[in-house]
Parts: sequence; structure tokens; C-alpha cells
Amino acid sequence: MYKCIDFLLMSILRQMKIRYRLIGAFIFLSMSPLLISGFIAYGESSKAINIKTRVFFTEMVKQVSKNIQLQMAQIETDSESLVLSDRVQSELTNYASADPEKKGLARTAMTKILLDAYGSVDLVNQKYFLDKDDHLVDLQVFLRLGRGVEQLASQAGHGKNHPYWSSVAGTSGSRAIVMLREIYFKDNNRLAGSLFLGIRPRYFSDMLSDVDLGIGSELCIIDLAEGKYIVNPQDKLSQSGASLVSGGLLQSIRDHLKQGQQTGFVSYLAMRQSGSPDEKTMEFLAAFAPIPHTSWFVVSSIPSSNLLVEAESARNKIVLVGFVCFLVAIILAFIISSSISTPLGKLVADMRNAKSGHFSRYSEQEGNDELTELGQKFNEMSMELAWDREQLEQRVAQRTRELEEANRQLEQLSMTDSLTGIANRRCFDTALGVELRRAARIKKPLALIMLDIDFFKNYNDYYGHQDGDICLCEVAHLLQLHAGRAGDMAARYGGEEFVILVAETDVESTMVLAETIRLSLESMDLSHAASRFGCVTVSCGVAILIPDEYQTADMLIRMADSALYKAKTNGRNQVVLYGS
Ligand code: GH3
Ligand code: MG
Ligand code: MG
Repeated sequence: MYKCIDFLLMSILRQMKIRYRLIGAFIFLSMSPLLISGFIAYGESSKAINIKTRVFFTEMVKQVSKNIQLQMAQIETDSESLVLSDRVQSELTNYASADPEKKGLARTAMTKILLDAYGSVDLVNQKYFLDKDDHLVDLQVFLRLGRGVEQLASQAGHGKNHPYWSSVAGTSGSRAIVMLREIYFKDNNRLAGSLFLGIRPRYFSDMLSDVDLGIGSELCIIDLAEGKYIVNPQDKLSQSGASLVSGGLLQSIRDHLKQGQQTGFVSYLAMRQSGSPDEKTMEFLAAFAPIPHTSWFVVSSIPSSNLLVEAESARNKIVLVGFVCFLVAIILAFIISSSISTPLGKLVADMRNAKSGHFSRYSEQEGNDELTELGQKFNEMSMELAWDREQLEQRVAQRTRELEEANRQLEQLSMTDSLTGIANRRCFDTALGVELRRAARIKKPLALIMLDIDFFKNYNDYYGHQDGDICLCEVAHLLQLHAGRAGDMAARYGGEEFVILVAETDVESTMVLAETIRLSLESMDLSHAASRFGCVTVSCGVAILIPDEYQTADMLIRMADSALYKAKTNGRNQVVLYGS
């Protein structure tokens, strides 16, 4: 269970942006109760309507059937009184006699009896007496009509105690309901003839029309045996007897009757009534109740869709409310999710900026919720980081400056002789290479003066090593003074040997420079008791050349060293030019 929730949370929900999660939740929460209650309400109300309709329709057709029976019973009772009246009995007796005159008079009398009994009854439009052989008593009757009546009487047969009811096509094309009842002589109970009454369908249809259910239902009387309408107030065609009852309805009623129930409620499929804009098969519901002694049934039918109109209207309202709720949910979800995701998005953007070093942007601080607090904490953290970063940058800059200074000093030291403070051998070697290449390029002479303190070993021995160092510094200082021209360089070559590099010069100037230095030292008169000159002196070897690609630094040094050697061997304290 926990794993399922975890899976749902991590694998599905966390893959969606908060905005869409909130919108989904709003829609789900607003729609689900509405949809569930709507479907339940629709289902329940549909069921309730079905049950109510079934009970109501069944009771209604039973009632109508009962009313029609009463109407029929009334006609039967009236007709029974008539046929048992002395007047009819005696005229029938006369009609049965062999005397033609008597028979003729009886014919006329019987016609008059019928006129007297039913002439003023508007709903009875046909009335005939037939003899026991089913021949019309009245010979004046229209031939075709008469034949029809006689035919019906012979079809009905004899020996029935109860009147026979049927429907026939009338002369004018209208359909009539007919009742045929046999007449017996009261004294011997022998068959005397029959009474035929044609009753206008309106007699019943008015009664059906009075029952208006108002929801599109149809009330009618059908003849199950013939599959035709006996009375159908809604259908004008039924008047001509051409309208057939839906086969589906007939079959459903027959199936029901087989189960032994005379009254019932069935559903069947039939075409929508003709006259409708679209003709399609639809489901109907029908309640039916029989009319005893006939194959007739009172039927009330209704398209099942009509029943659900109210339930569907309620459902449509629920759908409409649902749709409005859906829109409101989306708007609310959008607003609320924006109130969360927008500041969150801004905070994320601010964090990205902070990551790239832009601490100056701060999140919105309006509101009183956790996000505002988060934004404020982020700002505090951001400002602290910015302060720390600034401090760090200042410290780094300081350290960099110090490091640069240290490097500069180190470089200085690495190029400087620690004892005398002038350039050391390393610095000289570098400068010599550079100057050689430059002199070769500009084709100007480069001169090197190599100087060596005379009898310096003796000096050390006589004055001590420390005084020897002081003497070295004095000489170095003097050289530095004289190598003041741009491009000149004085360096300690090693021990008590020094060099001066002179760029862009000539032999004469170099010799003058070397001689000036030698004389200056001599004139300084630094006492050297262990020297035959009595003071500190130097020997100088001078070499000068315009270098080309074949001449190297070693060559120039060797030339100067050679001249120095010559100066030493010549007696010291002098300047010798190489090659002179
Ligand atoms: P010459 O006239 O032929 O040049 O004789 P010299 O004694 O100067 O030559 P030599 O090469 O025999 O002696 C050089 C001396 O220089 C030996 C050494 O004690 C001394 N010396 C070298 N470096 C230093 C130094 O840094 N300080 C001191 N005090 N003496 C040094
Ligand atoms: Mg030496
Ligand atoms: Mg020396």
C-alpha cells in the first residue's frame, strides 16, 4: 500500500508540474461528487418513473375497459328489453307465419319498431332484424349493405347466449362496431331471428378522448384477433379501418396472454407514428386490459423515451451545473495554482541567478504564506552569500597583490647578487643573449669589459673575509655608477670578478669607460697593504664586436677573459683591448 502511494507520488505526480497537479485535483474534486450523484439520481428517478407508469397505466386501462363494458352492457340491456318486448315477439311470430300478407305487415311493423327504439339514438346508425335463416326482415335495405349484414350474421353462427360484438367496414368507408344478438320466442324458446345494431365508433372514442395523460400516450381499443384498431381517437386512419396495429404490440400481448394474465404491461418495438418527420424504430411501453366476450383490448401505449423526459431534463440540468462547475474549477485551479507556481518559478529563477553569481535580485516578499517565508529566507541566505563572496573576493585580490609583490621580489632576488646588490651572473647571461641578438639585428657593436680585483686573495688574507666582502661592495658600487647609460649593465660574474655590458658603442668609448673605472678605483685609494700598488686596483679585459649568426656569448666572454689575462700578465692595474 505504502509502495503504491509512493509509486503514485514519485513516478506519476512528481513528473507533473504543480500547476497541472492542482488543476487536476480541482476538476476531480468538483466533478466526481456531481457526476456520481447525477448518475444515481438519474438511475433512481428513471426506475421510479417506470414503476409508477406501469401501475398507473395498468389501472387506467382497467378502468377504461370497465367503462366500455358498462357502455356495452347498457346497449345489451336495452336491446334485450326490446327483443323480449311483446311487440317484437308478436311481430316475429307474425313474420314466421305462412301468410304472405301477415308477413308483409310484420316486416313493416318491425322496421317501425326499430325506428321507434333507435331512430333518435344518434350513436346507433344501423339497426336490422334478421330471421332465423339470417336474412334481413326489411327488404328495403341497400343490397350490398344487406349482404354484409347477412354474411356477418352467418359468420357469427347460432347458439350463443351472449351478444356477439365485432367491427365491420361501413358503407361510407367508416368502420362500425356491431352487436348481434339472437332472439328467442319466449313461449317455446325457439330461435326467432337476430337483432343487428351498428354503433358509431365515436360512442367509444369520445370516452377514450376524455382520458388525456398529457405525456404523449395513446389510448385505443384493438382487435387482437384481426390485428386492427377498433377505436383509435388519435389516428384518423382507423376510421377507414386501414390502420393495422403494430405487430410488435400484438405479439407482446399474445405472449403475455399465454402466461395466463389477461391484463398486463408490455414493451415492444415499433415504428414511430406516421406523420413524424423521421420514421425510426423505437421502444414503446403499453398497458392492456381485455373487454370480455370479445377479442378486444383497451391499450394505452407510450414511447419509453417520453417517460424519461423529466429524468432527462434533470440529468441535463446536472450536466449543465457540472459544466459550470468544471469551468469554475478550471478558473479557480488556474488562479490558485498560479499563486503557488508563479512565486515558486520566480524563486527558482532567483536561485539560478544566485548560482551564476547575481545575488542582487530578490524574490517577491508580498503575502503571508510559506512561499513568502521561503522567499525571505532565500533572500537572507542570498545576502549572506553575497557578503561572504564580496569578502572572499577582497581577500583574494589582497592575496593576489601580495603574491605578485613576492614574485617580483623573488625575481629581483634571483637576478641580483646577494652580497653586492648589483645584477648577478644569471641576470648577466640573460642580458648578454638578448643584447647579442639585438646587436646582430641592428648591426651595431656590443662591448664587454671584464674586471678582476688584483691580489684579492692577499686582501682577504690580510684584512679578513668580512672586509673583503666590504671591498667587493665598494667596487660593485663604483661599477654600477659608471654603467649608468641605457643599455649598459654591471654584474658580478663570480668571486672578485665583474663584467660591464655596453651596447651600441665603439672601441674608443669602451676603452675610455674601462680606463675611467680603473682610475676612479685607484683614486678612491682603498688601502690594500698586501698589494704592490698599496691600494685596491682592478685589471680590465675589453672585447668588442658586431655579432653575426656565428658569434656566441661564449666567444665574447672568452675574448674579454683573454684580454683580462693579458692585463694580469702585463702587470695588473691596467686595461687591455682584445686583439691589440
Ligand atoms: P690576481 O691579482 O692574480 O687576480 O690575484 P688574486 O689573489 O686576486 O687571485 P685569486 O684567484 O688567486 O684569488 C681570488 C680570491 O678572491 C680568492 C678568494 O678568497 C677571494 N674571494 C672570492 N670570492 C670572495 C668573496 O665573496 N668574499 C671575499 N671576501 N673573498 C672572496
Ligand atoms: Mg680572480
Ligand atoms: Mg683577482
